[in-house]
Amino acid sequence: MSEETDSGTAAPDERWGQCSSRACPLLGTVGRGGQWWCFCHFEADAGEADTVTRIVRSHRAIYTATLDVRAHVGADDWPRVYRSVQQRLLDAGHADLLPCELDASPYRPGRPIVQQWLARLERFLLDAVRDGLRRIAAQAATESGAGPRTPPPSSRDCVARMRATLAPLAKREASAQWAFDLLERIAAKPTNAPPPEAVRCALDAVGSPAGRAYAASATDTQRARWRAALQVIGSSAAAAMPSREPGEDDEEPERVTG
Ligand SMILES: [Zn+2]
Repeated sequence: MSEETDSGTAAPDERWGQCSSRACPLLGTVGRGGQWWCFCHFEADAGEADTVTRIVRSHRAIYTATLDVRAHVGADDWPRVYRSVQQRLLDAGHADLLPCELDASPYRPGRPIVQQWLARLERFLLDAVRDGLRRIAAQAATESGAGPRTPPPSSRDCVARMRATLAPLAKREASAQWAFDLLERIAAKPTNAPPPEAVRCALDAVGSPAGRAYAASATDTQRARWRAALQVIGSSAAAAMPSREPGEDDEEPERVTG
């Protein structure tokens, strides 16, 4: 069951893995300026942060859907969560955001892929944020007498917008460093585990090619800490964490074979 907190007043420790912007309900998976931000706040100026949060929070059915999908996909309770997420989207008038053909591979029509669906949900939030900020900027320009309407976009504007649209798609996946940063925090304070959606997101990033490369270039001490953290959160990924520096040729790893 997802913990839906509306207040956003969780203590700092309870916001491990969360976006650095105050009261933002999303995971902070993209690094900038020494802090972790969600895909919506990543591009926003500091002055826009609260507006971005407000826009995200105004789409509760959708942001909770993204968090629930991240937290529960593949888990035992996934069928129930999957149904409840879809019901919530329907109740909010978003039949267009139910899993559908748009989310299926062309090679397997009729079988929506959860990750594609999740990307579409997150994309909806990102578009809502951008539209909201644009509307506010246009309104401010009108009120300051800068013109009744924003001028039609030039081709340079279009290219810039296209780049801006495409850039975060590459950053949608959590960075490996974020994931290992999360593991460090768990290792340092095992009794205070981050929320399940952060854990799932981190495990995906740890298991990704970037995550494996990151782990391979780390020291044994770091990997031992991360392994301990993975054991705390009960992940089978702990076994996959290499326990030796590459090229070390001492005794066999302490693996018990039956
Ligand atoms: Zn955020």
